[in-house]
Amino acid sequence: MTSLKIIDGRALASEILTSVKLQIDPNNPPCFAVIQVGGNPVSNVYIRHKFKKAIALGIEPKHLHFAEDVSEERIEKEIRRLNKDKTIHGVMIQMPLPENLNARKLMDLIASDKDIDGLHSRNLGRLMVGEKGLYSCTPQGIMYAIHSMKKDLTSLHAVVVGRSNLVGKPVAQMLLNANCTVSIVHSKTRDIKSITQKADILVVAVGHANLVKADWVKDGAIVIDVGINRLGDGMLVGDVDFENVKEKAFAITPVPKGIGPLTIAFLMKNIMDAWEIQNDK
Ligand code: NAP
Repeated sequence: MTSLKIIDGRALASEILTSVKLQIDPNNPPCFAVIQVGGNPVSNVYIRHKFKKAIALGIEPKHLHFAEDVSEERIEKEIRRLNKDKTIHGVMIQMPLPENLNARKLMDLIASDKDIDGLHSRNLGRLMVGEKGLYSCTPQGIMYAIHSMKKDLTSLHAVVVGRSNLVGKPVAQMLLNANCTVSIVHSKTRDIKSITQKADILVVAVGHANLVKADWVKDGAIVIDVGINRLGDGMLVGDVDFENVKEKAFAITPVPKGIGPLTIAFLMKNIMDAWEIQNDK
């Protein structure tokens, strides 16, 4: 029997962060701006984490915080200003935005070379056609975690549960680009279990605590759990029933300390990449 490997997201993230730190020129540090609207407490925590990590590396963060009732025109004006500002290398919008603001329109207004979240339609398109670009952070983290277990993914069957623009669709495209045969399943898929049971690589990004049970998983699969769910008692769990699935998997990411730290590490890497793009212009 092969021994199970728990994928250590923090150790992998520190590899990425170390290489970013080595690239930073303290006399010309990367600088990024986060646009936040309203005071969502979860967003506040995420922004604090990003800023702490950035400052530790020598990256300068800027927080542009607007009231909940800010107009779309005001945010558009700010994005246009940031796009022109040569001292700002990366721009991102902290999601979620209030319903009255058009998130897609605002994301696409960010200059694609400053789009450190990798969510601009042009960057999503670059990923699809296999061109260099700024790609979304969580999918990059997922691929890094998978590659830490297996270098060549050619011909493996990868199943992605979830089809969001943030995680499911881009990671499915990355797996396809890595020569996997890819299936995407979602809330309208019939008999999901019969599809996940065939997966050599199973990526789950749903937001439903412990959705994936041991009998959904093939023996020896690599299982990547992206979900973050807080239970009534405050405990954080993923979308995968970790305790039972780990008995079948070849490798599995835990929640927390799995994909979360890799997401933030790849945000830092994207900021560095955006800095390089601006400096090459
Ligand atoms: P999302 O936009 O809400 O998308 C969820 C996806 O799951 C949708 O495609 C939905 O299908 C599908 N789905 C819902 N119920 C399902 C079911 N019972 N069976 C199969 N598919 C189902 O969420 P997201 O932004 O992709 O995030 C997913 C999870 O990952 C969340 O818990 C989020 O917090 C977490 N996350 C973690 C990180 C990290 O750094 N660790 C980063 C990003 C997200 P439909 O399209 O048919 O509705």
